[in-house]
Amino acid sequence: MKICILASGSKGNCIYVAGGGTALLIDAGLSARETLQRLALARIDPQEIRSILFTHDHSDHRKGARVLSKRLEAQLYANDATAAGIELCDPALHSGFNIFDSCSPFEIADLRIEPFPVPHDAGDPVGFVIDDGRTRIGVVTDIGQATELSKEKLHNCDLVVLESNHDVELLRQSGRPWSLIQRIEGRCGHLSNDEAAEIITDSASGRWRKIVLAHLSEDCNSSALASSTAVAALERIRLGSIPVRVASQHIVSKIITI
Ligand SMILES: [Zn+2]
Ligand SMILES: [Zn+2]
Repeated sequence: MKICILASGSKGNCIYVAGGGTALLIDAGLSARETLQRLALARIDPQEIRSILFTHDHSDHRKGARVLSKRLEAQLYANDATAAGIELCDPALHSGFNIFDSCSPFEIADLRIEPFPVPHDAGDPVGFVIDDGRTRIGVVTDIGQATELSKEKLHNCDLVVLESNHDVELLRQSGRPWSLIQRIEGRCGHLSNDEAAEIITDSASGRWRKIVLAHLSEDCNSSALASSTAVAALERIRLGSIPVRVASQHIVSKIITI
């Protein structure tokens, strides 16, 4: 399978995943123009993308949905609450959604998609495991706490994209309004570096071949802090050889083949 993180963070999220002759995007949080530019930078043919899956309806995950789905002639996939939330914000959306159940796997061509619920302050947010029959990619961002279900889902993956949003101390010293700090730190907010380390400690397996840390806060985190926390967690469970990468808000990742 192939994966490319086109953008990750509070200004926009979009991940390309391809396998078994099928290509899709997880979220459409960049403008259509920016998404197409970034696909070109990654040398990905946009014509191959026929589906867009949505994790939840926050604007950093759906603001390019209408124009991008039209340009790509892509099918949209979301659960009921996310579809309703996106349609409410963007009534001019040209096509309807393929509705999935948050707990029921479904197929898009040769890819099996396993959504699963995560705690976050949106309608019915989900993470995904994408499986081509041989390789499994897990994507979990915008999750307020390290849940047993997310640990279980990630355990049998080959590649994991995991939120590592903030350093708790930097967040508390950020000068942001206390209500916002509480929202981010809360059970339905975002995952701290330490909470990401907890997921890694409890769910990493010998099957993991790479971790991509994602949705980093630009003000309250750094690549060095996030990756050193994850590496330390891996070393504690003697899996320190698993490479850790950090996804960027501004720079398209390399295409990772797994
Ligand atoms: Zn987000
Ligand atoms: Zn969100």
